[in-house]
Amino acid sequence: MFFKKKIKLSTYSFALSLFTLVAFHVPFFMRMGNHLEGGFNSVMLVTMAVLVMLGLDFLFYYLLAWLGRFVGKCIIALTFLADAVMLIGVVNYDVLVTDEIMGCVLKTRYAEVSGFLSWGVVPYMLFFGVLPCIYVFARKVEYGSWKRMLGSVGISLGVILAAVFGNMKNWPWIDRNSTELGSVIMPWSYIVNTVRFYQGERQRNRKEILLPDATSVSDSRDICVLFIAESARRDRFSLLGYERETNRYTAADSVKAYNALSSATYTTAGVKAILEPVDDPELYEILPNYLQRAGVDVWWRTSNWGEPPVHTANYYTFSQLKQRYPQADSRYDGLLLEGLREDIAGSDSTKVFVVIHAYTSHGPSYNTNYPPEFEVFKPVANTVEMSKVTQEELDNAYDNTIVYTDWLLHQVIELFRSFPDRRCCLLFISDHGESLGENNIYMHGIPLSMAPREQREIPMLVWSSDKSLQYKDLPEVGQHHVFHSILRFFGIESPAFNEEMCIFAP
Ligand SMILES: [Zn+2]
Repeated sequence: MFFKKKIKLSTYSFALSLFTLVAFHVPFFMRMGNHLEGGFNSVMLVTMAVLVMLGLDFLFYYLLAWLGRFVGKCIIALTFLADAVMLIGVVNYDVLVTDEIMGCVLKTRYAEVSGFLSWGVVPYMLFFGVLPCIYVFARKVEYGSWKRMLGSVGISLGVILAAVFGNMKNWPWIDRNSTELGSVIMPWSYIVNTVRFYQGERQRNRKEILLPDATSVSDSRDICVLFIAESARRDRFSLLGYERETNRYTAADSVKAYNALSSATYTTAGVKAILEPVDDPELYEILPNYLQRAGVDVWWRTSNWGEPPVHTANYYTFSQLKQRYPQADSRYDGLLLEGLREDIAGSDSTKVFVVIHAYTSHGPSYNTNYPPEFEVFKPVANTVEMSKVTQEELDNAYDNTIVYTDWLLHQVIELFRSFPDRRCCLLFISDHGESLGENNIYMHGIPLSMAPREQREIPMLVWSSDKSLQYKDLPEVGQHHVFHSILRFFGIESPAFNEEMCIFAP
């Protein structure tokens, strides 16, 4: 029988590497084709890509199996399962596997991942994941001697080097396209980017750098709510020109709307940028921690994730809020505002700062993020397989999340109106934008240098009960404007304050 006969490790490794090339790299060669101009040079580049991929995968499988034997086979099998999962992301959502995306995958909660799951992934997993695993374990292998191992490694290294150095003229092309193409090479993209993600995490988890001391120069009783939206894009807000009525609730609230641009296209970096004074890879003291040190009472309520460490005892995750308010509807972000009035009223500080970190427009299951009565645009997309939904259904589902967000903002303003003797301010901004099928790109997370405008253009909305506050006319603001504007609202003076990044006039 076929599986009874032992085969040489080199044949085994070559078979696996050929399967990897054919099964997992259609997206790679399609993307590569988009950047090629035809002619002999294109042939050279494609040949090089094929040889390098075959060579690297051969080396990878050969060395793992030779050194690890059964353990090596287990690791190889795991990479096929992971390859299959990544392929689903790459094919269905045009995901580029970067360190940022690996961070999302590794830190994500089950609920977020389950949004991607549907029955459509089963054949993928069977054919691209389970089938090669069966081969990996069932095939009997003749491992061979030291000498043969060194010979095989030498030949494959030679092929890789010859292909790379035979294409030196194309190195600029490779350099220009490496981020995009490298991110869809299996299994390298997620292995390399997982390592890069953890390196980055270690960097970021260094102790935060304290900002210079602030002084409070006002004794007014102030409440500020910073509402951080998830994936809310600018051009879907009627306050900023969208033809559909998505801001029907705040339309009558005299909300000031700014065009804003995000500093990032993924949650952790977007939220960090909103909370810090400047763009910096270092972790500086973030706004809630800084305000708390200046004597402000800080509250944080989240149905999302990914913020830098917040040092307040009044920190509530969504599940903690569920426990606190068992009678409330815990399916939607409305829970974030449950009992908030009582929390604020119970604070004995003159200044209260509340951060609401919402989840409302997170894809791809937009239609599950809002209560049924907010389904004002119909019909909506109700599957996560983008090939099965129309653009109109996708737009409808997404726009409904904006309508629901707008209602939540109106609820905050109504809450402020129940404190007529206090100075109040609502600041609303998104962590990043969202792609809704433009050029076949969905969701977000494309590296900044290549990110389409939809992923960076976000709204910033402001409302205040203090009529003496003057808004500056600014054509476009950034996420750091939040930090400086909130300092001014609270009347807090700090060497870290930057007038140019403040939306309120002095
Ligand atoms: Zn986000």
